[in-house]
Amino acid sequence: MTTYLSGETASPSQNLDVPSRALAIGAHPDDIEFGCGGTLAKWAAKGCEIFHLVCTDGSKGTWDPDVDGAALARRRQREQTDAARILGGSAPVTFLGWTDGELESGMVQRGQIVEAIRRLKPDIILAHDPWKRYRLHPDHRHAGFLATDGVVAARDPLFFPELGAPHRPSKMLLWEADQPDHEENLDEELFQRKLLALKAHSSQYESTMGVNRLDDESQLVAFENRIRTRLSENSLSHNGQLSEVFKLIDKI
Ligand SMILES: [Zn+2]
Repeated sequence: MTTYLSGETASPSQNLDVPSRALAIGAHPDDIEFGCGGTLAKWAAKGCEIFHLVCTDGSKGTWDPDVDGAALARRRQREQTDAARILGGSAPVTFLGWTDGELESGMVQRGQIVEAIRRLKPDIILAHDPWKRYRLHPDHRHAGFLATDGVVAARDPLFFPELGAPHRPSKMLLWEADQPDHEENLDEELFQRKLLALKAHSSQYESTMGVNRLDDESQLVAFENRIRTRLSENSLSHNGQLSEVFKLIDKI
């Protein structure tokens, strides 16, 4: 049971019917794999077409002040493309290419999301929860609002009429939610696929995965254990099953 701020309680939902098309929208290369990589792999294995859209170029994703940002951005595009393929995604990944750390949720960016939604026609959109409290990184907040605002604009014909026919997804799943109410369960094989996709982002080992020596296998094992523990503790059913959890929005 989940307790909400209002005191209302409700049973969490589990394991949506596999959609035919899903679009995941992340701020940076690797956010999608952290947020919903296992869910995407599960759906792809059952015939769902999976699409990735990444808003920024990831050019500031390092602790090394001497790194060439443009070279890092190129490397991260390759890593993201590899990760999407590992999950069973449909090529190509859509890269909006906004500068890392400077993403805004304005009308230009919203139009780009509308274009992607109307072109790819997903049944379900997965994205950052923009309402997560005390979130510091602005790109995650803006990417979340771009996804939610983009869905509203994509579904109605008078928004961006120059961008094609409206398309209304049936659901959104928001990861990083303060109040998750839906879980997608992962078996060991799907967990390993999520890990493999995360490890494709090798430029991020030090800054987000706590791995600063690639020759030290124990650090990669520790990373795997941290992800496994997080997914196990996530379980809304409190049965320890590996789960990715979301806020489900099913009225669009
Ligand atoms: Zn990120």
